[in-house]
Amino acid sequence: MALRSVERVISPPRPHFVGDGFRVHNFIPSIPPLAMVRMDPFIMLDYNSKFEFPPSNQAKGVGVHPHRGFETVTIAYHGKVAHHDSAGNSGVIGEGEVQWMTAASGVLHKEYHEKNFSETGGIFQMVQLWVNLPAKHKMSSPKYQAISRDQVKIIPLDQGTIELIAGEYHGEQGPANTFTPIHLSNAKLKAGGKASFSFPKNYHTAMIVIEGDITINAHKKAAMDHFVLMGNDGEEFTIEANSDSIVLVMSGEPIGEPIAAHGPFVMNTQKELLEAFEDFHSGKFGELTE
Ligand code: MN
Repeated sequence: MALRSVERVISPPRPHFVGDGFRVHNFIPSIPPLAMVRMDPFIMLDYNSKFEFPPSNQAKGVGVHPHRGFETVTIAYHGKVAHHDSAGNSGVIGEGEVQWMTAASGVLHKEYHEKNFSETGGIFQMVQLWVNLPAKHKMSSPKYQAISRDQVKIIPLDQGTIELIAGEYHGEQGPANTFTPIHLSNAKLKAGGKASFSFPKNYHTAMIVIEGDITINAHKKAAMDHFVLMGNDGEEFTIEANSDSIVLVMSGEPIGEPIAAHGPFVMNTQKELLEAFEDFHSGKFGELTE
């Protein structure tokens, strides 16, 4: 086994609002070299770093919009987010919880701050990750996995825990069902705590420092809100927390198919993108009220 090196540590770009409820730094695909092909199967990553929303009687968020061809994965750290979709699924997630929505053949959904959180306001911190689907699953039925606190697999370490969402860690299995091999976890480490990871060399691998600050492979530092792109030159790496830290770790096998993406649709060809627009405009994504 060879050491997987740090390819780049990327500071958070200037944030923008998605709707009026998500103040995000977009890392994938807008910040070089984090293009969709480079990060495949991870094709979009928006990071809402800690941001305080004032109390509001109107729930802030994003109104009804479509998706086709991939999965949206929302991971909550602070605040609560609610979801409703045209496949009839809905849910609320809070700190340490995940909603894994498979849009596949197409859904309409809306994403917004949960009612009580909206009314009291407070610190909000989330990640939304888009996981691509291989051609053979792009038109499969939509589904929704709500991964609550009690479903996340907690794996104890000497000075911390791994909260496993998807894939495997040291023989344990995470709760999310995925279409292609993916590891997704939160490493929660006390100051001085360490965690080691090993993924096949070709898997695209990255981390976001959600809280605290870390040292990777005993020499490369990354501070809070930074994105760490790992190379494809080896399998194993370690992280050490310099202060109490939370690190989102993702690694996935590249799907390796052509990517045709526009807005909320991610397909393999331009023709399929046009079909997605036509199907959306002709009402084939179902119905959802604002
Ligand atoms: Mn969406």
